[in-house]
Amino acid sequence: MSVGETEDLPLFAASKKVYPQSVSGPFRRLKWALLVLCLAVYYLLPFLRWDRGPNLPNQAVLLDIANNRFYFFFIEIWPQEVYYFTGLLVMAAFILFLMNAVAGRIWCGYLCPQTVWTDLYLAVERFFEGDRRERMLRDSMAWSLDTLWRKAAKHITWVMIAWWTGGAWVLYFADAPTLVRELATFTAPMMAYVWIAILTFTTYALAGHMREQVCKFMCPWPRIQAALTDDEALNVTYRYDRGDPRVSVKHAARLRSEGKPAGDCIDCHQCVVVCPMGIDIRDGSQLDCIQCGLCIDACDNVMEKVGREPKLIAFDTEANVERRKAGLAPVYRPVRLRTLIYLGLIVLVGGAMLWQLATRATAGISVLHERAPLFVRLQDGSMRNAYTMRLLNKRPETRPFALSVSGPSGVTIEAVGVSATADLRPIVAVGPDSSREIRVLVTVPHDTPLEQSQTITFTASDLFAGEVVRTQDHFIAP
Ligand code: SF4
Ligand code: SF4
Repeated sequence: MSVGETEDLPLFAASKKVYPQSVSGPFRRLKWALLVLCLAVYYLLPFLRWDRGPNLPNQAVLLDIANNRFYFFFIEIWPQEVYYFTGLLVMAAFILFLMNAVAGRIWCGYLCPQTVWTDLYLAVERFFEGDRRERMLRDSMAWSLDTLWRKAAKHITWVMIAWWTGGAWVLYFADAPTLVRELATFTAPMMAYVWIAILTFTTYALAGHMREQVCKFMCPWPRIQAALTDDEALNVTYRYDRGDPRVSVKHAARLRSEGKPAGDCIDCHQCVVVCPMGIDIRDGSQLDCIQCGLCIDACDNVMEKVGREPKLIAFDTEANVERRKAGLAPVYRPVRLRTLIYLGLIVLVGGAMLWQLATRATAGISVLHERAPLFVRLQDGSMRNAYTMRLLNKRPETRPFALSVSGPSGVTIEAVGVSATADLRPIVAVGPDSSREIRVLVTVPHDTPLEQSQTITFTASDLFAGEVVRTQDHFIAP
C-alpha cells in the first residue's frame, strides 16, 4: 500500500465463535462443585418448607406479591420494611467489592449466573457434539444426519434446561407444590406462563448462544471492577519472567545446552483453547478474563507432562510481577486498608440489619387526619376531629389492642363500630399477620383551651404481650 492510499477496512468485525476445550484440574473441580451447589439451591429452594404456624405460608422462601409479604425462613418482611432489601443490595455490593479486592473477577468466574448456566450449557454441548476439535470440525463440514440429530438433541436439552430455569423462578412467587400442580394441569395464572416463557427465552439465548459476549459487552461489572481494583488484588497471571522466551521442549533443550535463554512456556496454546472467553492470558491482564482459573489447570497439566514446575500461570498480583522484575520475592497482602474497609462496611451494614431485625416491633400504628371537615363542634361545645387509623399485627395470632390518646386536657378517643373497652379505652382486635383499618374520633371538652393546631399522641397497647406502639398527629381547632 503506497503513501496516501487507505485500506478498505470494515468498521465492525464479526466475533469469532469460541470452542472451549474441556480440562481437568482443581479449578475445574471447584467450578463443578459450585455449579452443582448454585443450581441445587436455585431449583430446590422453593420446595423447602418452614413452619410459621397456622394461617401463614410454610414455604421457606416466598415472595408473596398478592399479600405484599416476603418470607425468608424465620424472617417476614412487610411492604413498609423494603429498606431491608436496600440493605441487602448495599451489602451485596460491598461483598462484590471485597471479592474484587481479594481476587479480581472471581465472582464472574465461579458464581455469576451467566457463568454457571453457560458452563452447564457447554457441558450439554460437549455431551452431544464432542470436545473442541470435534465441534469445530462438525461446524466446518456440510450438514449430515449425524450432525442434525446431535444439534437437535443439544438444542432440545438447552430449551428444557431453560424451561426448568423459568419454571423454578415462578415457584418463588407462589406455593411451589400447588403451582407445579397448576402448571401441569394448565390451570396456573397466565402471568406464570408469561414469566416462564420470558426466562426460557433469556436463559436459552444468554447461556446457549451469547455466552462470553454477555460478559464482554453487556455486563457493566468488568468496567466497574477495573476501576475498583488495585495492584495487590490476585488475578490470573502468566509468569512471563519464567515463561518467555516461548520455545518447544526440543528447542529449549538445545538453547539451554548452548547457554541461551529458554522459557518454560512451550507455546502449546492449551491455556488458550480451554479459555471460555477465547483470550490468551499470556498477552497480560485483560478486562475480559473472568478469573476462572481453567488456563491454570491446563498449563499445570502441560507442565506436569514436560516435567517442569507448575504455576507458570497462577493467581498472582501486579505488584508481584513488578517485584519479580526487580528481583524481589513475591508478597501476598489480602489484609490491607481496602479489604479491611470493605469488610468493616459489610459487618456494619449486616450488623445494623440484624439489630433492626432483632429489635423490630411486631405491631404498628399509623393515622391519617380526615380533611372534610377538619373539625366539628358538638352540641355541648366540645371539639371533635376524625382520623383513619391503621393497626398492624405482625404476629401469627389475633391480638387485642387498647387505644388511647394524649394531648390537650380531657382528650378522649372513640373507635367507630367498636364496643369493647378496657379502662374506658376502646379494644380493637387485629387478626394474625394482618392489618385493620378503623375510624377513630378524638374529642376535647369545651372548657379546654385550644390553639389552631396541637400535637396529639395515639397509643395502641397489646393487652396480652404488652407491646406498645405510638404515633403522632395534629388536633385541629378553629
Ligand atoms: S484467561 Fe484463564 S482465567 Fe481468564 S477467562 Fe480465560 S481461562 Fe479463565
Ligand atoms: S499452557 Fe502453559 S505452556 Fe502451554 S502455551 Fe499456555 S502458558 Fe505456555
